[in-house]
Amino acid sequence: MAIGYFLGRRGRDFTILEAAEQPAAAWRGRWDSLELFTSARYDSLPGLAFPGDPVRYPTRDEVVEYLSLYARHFELPVELGSRVRSISRAEHGYRVALDDREYEADQVVVATGPFQMPRMPAAAESLGAEVAQLHSSAYRSPDAISAGTVLVVGGGNTGYQIAEELSRWHEVHLAVGSRQKPFPQRILGRDLFWYLEAAGLIRKSTATRIGRRLAGRDTLIGSSPKALRRDHGVELHERAIAAEGSTVSFSDATSLEVGTVIWATGFEVDHSWIDVPVFDEGGRLVHRRGVTESAGLYFLGLSWQHSRGSALLGWVKEDAEFIAQQIERPQ
Ligand SMILES: Cc1cc2nc3c(=O)[nH]c(=O)nc-3n(C[C@H](O)[C@H](O)[C@H](O)COP(=O)(O)OP(=O)(O)OC[C@H]3O[C@@H](n4cnc5c(N)ncnc54)[C@H](O)[C@@H]3O)c2cc1C
Repeated sequence: MAIGYFLGRRGRDFTILEAAEQPAAAWRGRWDSLELFTSARYDSLPGLAFPGDPVRYPTRDEVVEYLSLYARHFELPVELGSRVRSISRAEHGYRVALDDREYEADQVVVATGPFQMPRMPAAAESLGAEVAQLHSSAYRSPDAISAGTVLVVGGGNTGYQIAEELSRWHEVHLAVGSRQKPFPQRILGRDLFWYLEAAGLIRKSTATRIGRRLAGRDTLIGSSPKALRRDHGVELHERAIAAEGSTVSFSDATSLEVGTVIWATGFEVDHSWIDVPVFDEGGRLVHRRGVTESAGLYFLGLSWQHSRGSALLGWVKEDAEFIAQQIERPQ
C-alpha cells in the first residue's frame, strides 16, 4: 500500500497483486484481542493519518479497517485473489505468473511481508496425539483452547500476549528460549516509540554500529517475565528442547505435562517462488535497502530491510519512498 501511494503520486502505471480475497489479510489472520505495540500516532502509512486518539493502542480490527480505507481513499489498484506463483526474468523486465494469467513488468516490488511460513520446532513432531498443538498464527481466542495445562513456547511479544490472555482461564506456562530485553510501553507518560524516534534509533540503519547491535536483539514491549509471573501467575521455563507423548522437557532438565502447546516460535520468509538469482548460497536475499542486483527487482517490508522502522506501519513509508525513487531512475 505504501509503495502504491508513492507510485500513484508519480503517475506510474502499476498494479498490486494480493493473494487473499480481502485487503489486510495478514492482520485478519491474527488473534482476536491483538493490540498494537505502537500507538496510533505511529501507525499511519504515508498521506493518511490513522484515525482517532493518537495515544491509544489500536486493535487488530482497527488496523484492518484503516488499511481497507487506505486502499479505497487513494484508489489503489489492488487485484484481490491474485497469488503470484513465480517471478522470472523476461526479455525486458520480468514475467509474473499467476494461476490464471501472466504479466510482464519492467519493474517488480516484492512486498509479501516478513511473516509467511509458521516456524515449528522439531519437538512439535514428537508430541502425542492427545496434546492439542497449534502455531500462534492459528490462535484466535481462549474459547478454542480446551481445559488443561497450556504451554506457550516462545518469549517474544506474541508468546507473552497469548500467555497473558490464557492465564485468565488456564494454568499457563511460558518457555523462553532466548530472553528479549523488556521495555515498558510508556515511560514517564510517553510512548516508548517517542523516545526511539527522538533519539533517532528507529531510523538507525544496519550500516551503523548501533543499528547492527539493535538488529541483533529483539525487544519485548509492554511485558516482562516478572510482571507475567506476578500479575498473571504464569510459570516461566527455559527453552523447550524435546517432547514425548504429553511431556515437554526444557534445557534445564525440568519437564512439564501439557494438555495444549501453542508454538509462538515465529515465522520464516518464503521466497522459493522467486526464480531470479538474487539469493546467496544459504538462500538469503542479497540486497541494499531492498534494491537487488537484478535491475528492476525490489523488496519492501522486510524486517530490518534498512532500520527497525522498515517493517512497522508508521515508518515503512521511508523505505517505500526510497524504492519509488529507484523505480524512477533510468534502468
Ligand atoms: C503478531 C504481530 C504483531 C504486530 N504488531 C505490530 C504493531 O503493533 N505495530 C506495527 O507497526 N507493526 C506490527 N507488526 C508488524 C507488521 O504486521 C508487519 O511488519 C507488517 O504487516 C508488514 O506489512 P507488509 O505489508 O510488508 O506484510 P503483510 O502485512 O504480511 O502483507 C503481505 C501480503 O502479501 C500477500 N502475499 C504473500 N505472498 C503473496 C504472493 N505470492 N502473491 C500475492 N500476494 C502475496 C499476503 O496475502 C499479505 O496480504 C506485527 C506483526 C505481528 C506478526
